[in-house]
Amino acid sequence: MAAQQEFPIVLEGGKLVDGTGNPPVENAAVLIEGERFKTISRKGQAPYPKNAKVIKTEGKTLLPGLWDTHVHYRDWMAELFLAHGVTTILDLGNSSTWILAQRDGVAKGKIRAPRIFACGDPIGEGHGKRGEVKDVGQAHALVKRLLDEGVDAVKVWAHCTAEMLKVVAEEAHAAGRKVIGHLGVITARDAVLNGLDCLAHATGLPMSAVKDSEKAQWMLNQEIKRLQTMIIGEPGITAWGLFAMMEEDTFDQVAEFLVSRKVRIEPDFVYRWQLASRRREEREYEDFITFSDPRLSYIPEVTLSRNMRAWQVYRRLNEQQLQELKEGYEKFQKFLHCFVRAGGEVDIGTDTSEGRMPGKGVHREFEFLVDAGFSPRDIIVWATKGSAEFIGKGDELGTVEAGKIADIIVVNGDPLADITALGKIETVIKSGEIIDTGYHPDYSNPIPRPFEPALHSYPVPKIARISPTMAVEGSKPVTLAIEGEGFVRGSVVQVDGVRVPTTCTGGKEIQAQIPAHLLARVGTYTVMVVNPRPVSVKDPLHEDERSNPKYFMVSFS
Ligand SMILES: [Zn+2]
Repeated sequence: MAAQQEFPIVLEGGKLVDGTGNPPVENAAVLIEGERFKTISRKGQAPYPKNAKVIKTEGKTLLPGLWDTHVHYRDWMAELFLAHGVTTILDLGNSSTWILAQRDGVAKGKIRAPRIFACGDPIGEGHGKRGEVKDVGQAHALVKRLLDEGVDAVKVWAHCTAEMLKVVAEEAHAAGRKVIGHLGVITARDAVLNGLDCLAHATGLPMSAVKDSEKAQWMLNQEIKRLQTMIIGEPGITAWGLFAMMEEDTFDQVAEFLVSRKVRIEPDFVYRWQLASRRREEREYEDFITFSDPRLSYIPEVTLSRNMRAWQVYRRLNEQQLQELKEGYEKFQKFLHCFVRAGGEVDIGTDTSEGRMPGKGVHREFEFLVDAGFSPRDIIVWATKGSAEFIGKGDELGTVEAGKIADIIVVNGDPLADITALGKIETVIKSGEIIDTGYHPDYSNPIPRPFEPALHSYPVPKIARISPTMAVEGSKPVTLAIEGEGFVRGSVVQVDGVRVPTTCTGGKEIQAQIPAHLLARVGTYTVMVVNPRPVSVKDPLHEDERSNPKYFMVSFS
């Protein structure tokens, strides 16, 4: 249980958009006692305790705390989420031991962060990852383990087949858990027929919205090929191009099918479609400014470089890719309209991990949906009530109603009229507690995320031994042999903080020349191997891309 204020809180005078979809309430008065909403009324209608802390909200709007339902949580993200009014997240992929420890630490009030729901290891991950499964039996064993550990939902990833999904969904549903999929080898239709509840990034949708089955298979093959590289700019069709191939005369039928099965679609515009935003340049600059904020200096370098590269890709797109981006974006928006008209619910998730901005991403996703022509009131319901119901917590969370857990934000302005008002967050209350929404350079997580090497990154080098370990002052340059692991082309040896000429002679050996000027002085000097960036996530248990130190001594001649 989070620490609560000893005094009740009253938010009075503002416009309340309670997340139920009901018309907004002007001049509202919201009384919070302990961790819950006590009464929701109009200013002056209901008495409130004398010791209540009254927050005036005239000219402002009150909304339920926001949700981001597609997060790969990192230990540095909390302040960015909270500052942007995101009080709850659903994590769709992390080692289950770590993320469940975070979830429980937050619930106990020990970690200042948004409330966490989590899936743990995604089932059907790529080669060598924790969620890799080779057959139906392994998929079954993994889902059972995750459910035993207490995950809140189940995520399947691209290598999950229809047969695997079927057993996973059966187990998950029996335990009252939903299944979310980032699909790769199967279409949305096949996934839904086998029990999927939510399409992450709308994956699998394009292949389900074409009439010819050979064409659908070709699209699946392209998707699988893309999974292996994940690089935009590789020859072949982009993910956008697959959406551009969708046939509009299938839309109503596909939408009705998905709605009949109560499937949610997560468009994830901020991830897949951020380059299509009409505010692209503005947003890129905004990210640059955020990364330059000295109070946020704890954001790892790899996040900055991945984020900036994701924007810079735009300048390298060729004409065909630009066309695929534009056409895919338009088609996808059209499809979403058919889906919503048929009664479908959109899922607001951003896929923030190393490369996208936590917190801000949710506001941008709202903007994309407004740009696509959806009403702010619907979007707010999807992002709050809808998310809470999806995760099975609709009776406790997601709306501003008496008796529910008090997650509420105050924004300056009216996001129903102008969605950018969401950016003007004034107060964030989570579980009845007024949250500090500032950035603090000393923010740290009591349980840092264990290091996991990721795709397209170098290992952290380790030195086992060096030889020789000593020279005498004034000697000629010394050739130092270093044994260890994690050495790559581009590894450089650093002696006493100075990078010296290095030859990588093999995976487990590296040689360095210690120049004469470093041998001129008696002393004990550190020897380290530095690998090129990026080294996966910044490893909180090590400094960064450097190895452990060994020592080289220079003695008197
Ligand atoms: Zn993801």
